[in-house]
Amino acid sequence: MKDITQARLKLANLPTRIDPLENTSQWLGRNLWIKRDDQTGLELSGNKVRKLEFALAEALAQGADTIVTTGGIQSNHARATAAACVRLGLECHLILAADEKQPLDGNYLLDDLLGARIRFVSARDYAERLSEIMEQAKAALIAQGRTPYLIPVGASNGIGTFGYYAAWQEIMEQEKNLGITFDHVVCAVGSGGTCAGLMLGNAALGSGRQVTGIPIAGDAAYFRDRILAITQEFSGYQGPIDLPAEQIRLIDGYVGRGYALSTAEELEFLRTFGRTEGIVLDPVYTGKAMRGLLTELEKDSHWFQGAENILFIHTGGLFGLFPKRFQF
Ligand SMILES: *Cc1c(COP(=O)(O)O)cnc(C)c1O
Repeated sequence: MKDITQARLKLANLPTRIDPLENTSQWLGRNLWIKRDDQTGLELSGNKVRKLEFALAEALAQGADTIVTTGGIQSNHARATAAACVRLGLECHLILAADEKQPLDGNYLLDDLLGARIRFVSARDYAERLSEIMEQAKAALIAQGRTPYLIPVGASNGIGTFGYYAAWQEIMEQEKNLGITFDHVVCAVGSGGTCAGLMLGNAALGSGRQVTGIPIAGDAAYFRDRILAITQEFSGYQGPIDLPAEQIRLIDGYVGRGYALSTAEELEFLRTFGRTEGIVLDPVYTGKAMRGLLTELEKDSHWFQGAENILFIHTGGLFGLFPKRFQF
């Protein structure tokens, strides 16, 4: 096995801070903490930059000069990829899902400022024939004499998952310095790689913690399969690693109206949380996941029974807030 960590690029500002959520902790009678992965950078902010440190290292090692990736029109992953590509001298092609012409706003505006070549596909094509469209884009680039490298949605594949596998080691280091043991670590689940990386870190290091993902699209059954598939791919790099079924903890019930759609209650929660902690969550991922976590704690549900120290990963997404301004 080659050592993946040796090739890792340095794109993110690490380690990210871990801060207590003092007011929420007092209200709930549990110790809540937040890891500020929204502060991994600015253009390169959020969880995707950790994955890109490994995925783009692989692209460079393979001699790629062009990156092709994909996501929704407000994809944080697409924006982080666009920025990283400029810094690494790579051409960036984004295939974004949108059914109608959208105003230049949020991440899409940044994609444009960062010089990404953007192509839109309908939501239906995105759902039904994305891999075919990606392969066609790759073939067209090869025909033009370029060397493309494909990154799947959210960089949630074997190589991208090293980002949060490494973040798990970072958290374990920080625990020592803080003198705390996080018995629970919680994150939003969108394409599965963040959660998978944390679960794999926990399993591989034998940390014995509970890692819980809260899907913000799809459901637990879907993501259990995704995480197992990612584990397979990850094992191809790292050697076999066993992720026991009971360690794949996914809580349903917080998707709301669907991916990137908001309810009035979800948007009101962003207000409440902002005014309680002085921290802004995003409407697509962290707002839904934090609301899920706090709801489960308030209900005293079985998921967090006896939990003392709970660490929530703020995975970023702030730019996705602005295109929703009219809904507030
Ligand atoms: C992509 C994303 C997530 C979800 O991470 P996955 O690894 O795709 O499951 C969470 N929060 C934000 C802000 C994201 O952009």
